[in-house]
Amino acid sequence: MRVELLCTGDELVTGLTTDTNSPYLEARLFELGLKVQRVVLVGDVREDITLALREAAARSDVVIVSGGLGPTADDFTAECAAAAAGVPLVEDVGTLQFLRERAVKRGRELTPNVARMALVPEGSEVVPNPVGAAPLFILRLGGCRLFFLPGVPREYRALVDGEVLPRVRAELEKRPGRTYRAFRLLRTVGIPESVLDARVAPLAAAHSRVVFGFRTHAPENQLKLMAEAPSQSEADAALAAAEAAARHELGRAVYGADADTYPVVLGRLLTEARATLALAESCTGGLIAAQLTGVSGASNFLLGGAVVYTEQMKTAWAGVPADLLERHGAVSRPVAVAMAEGIRAACKTTYGLSVTGFAGPTGGTPEDPVGTVYCALAGEGMSTRCERFSIPGDRDLVRLFAASNALELLRE
Ligand code: ATP
Ligand code: MG
Repeated sequence: MRVELLCTGDELVTGLTTDTNSPYLEARLFELGLKVQRVVLVGDVREDITLALREAAARSDVVIVSGGLGPTADDFTAECAAAAAGVPLVEDVGTLQFLRERAVKRGRELTPNVARMALVPEGSEVVPNPVGAAPLFILRLGGCRLFFLPGVPREYRALVDGEVLPRVRAELEKRPGRTYRAFRLLRTVGIPESVLDARVAPLAAAHSRVVFGFRTHAPENQLKLMAEAPSQSEADAALAAAEAAARHELGRAVYGADADTYPVVLGRLLTEARATLALAESCTGGLIAAQLTGVSGASNFLLGGAVVYTEQMKTAWAGVPADLLERHGAVSRPVAVAMAEGIRAACKTTYGLSVTGFAGPTGGTPEDPVGTVYCALAGEGMSTRCERFSIPGDRDLVRLFAASNALELLRE
């Protein structure tokens, strides 16, 4: 099945908006075993859109069009679709009724420009939009089926998931020789990409139906597994076997899979253990707190903490004795330990986690150059653990890895 995507809108060809609709649909189609043949972007010019529709329909089985279905003067995709098919625009009674009721509900009159959204090329199948005004319409042009969707990403995605994909899948089921796919993303921390590759590469021979892919997304390295087989159950089984082998090989380095990001996994661990956490962050400046609170439900375990960037604040808020700072310097093992213990005592939590380091590009000492980070974890009934890290890279990377190294103390 040849699939092509066509996105319309001046904003897409003038650098104002990046096309995010296509990648979304491409990924969903790829999961179904389909690779999109071509993606075309066209500005708001009637002749260009009409021609692009004709060309796409001539070379593809399915074309999915985005944008230009709204009420404004630059929305004329339906008009171009009618021109491309050589049919008139007709009023869809159901849509008109829906638009009228929608206007009334919002205390407005149905204006002529809004009513225009009920005009579709004659012979179209019209499907209501569950999250917006302009409907989806489906038009046949020769042997090609064209789906017309609103450009607003939220509406586009809802119609892709709810209407387009089920129809494409049904069409695929009818065709012989279909490829079924299954995916897993394994997330690892603490091992370099080269090591990940060296450990996983030998698995490929025994799992011929699975493609192993690698991606670095600092601070983690990801292993992508894609299984392909003539049936979904075979693809699922091949994936499960490869995943088990990879997990066995990588051990604790795999912290989670798919949507389970680091903060999600840690939050779950702490919540299940009914443990609470307080943070004392220096060089990460609140990065750890931001990561943990980026996931809803963080208040179940994260009680609070402080950004203690200066020596005064390390003393005032994390209870680090001034003489300790004077003797060892702010970036040192004893200070990291005192920060973790101090913030834990102040917040009365199960754990206190601290980070102090030189993020650069300037600063550091001969013994502890830029990139040196100390992380400490204090906890109930345990002696405080502290680790020193030498993190290569620029300021952003040092801070990112400082945060993940600190959190890694907590996972252990
Ligand atoms: P509307 O009813 O809002 O006019 P429409 O179907 O006419 O919907 P457009 O006018 O083309 O769609 O776009 C609406 C909004 O969606 C704009 O803000 C536009 O920037 C955004 N948008 C359109 N196409 C895309 C795309 N391919 N990727 C990301 N955003 C897009
Ligand atoms: Mg519009």
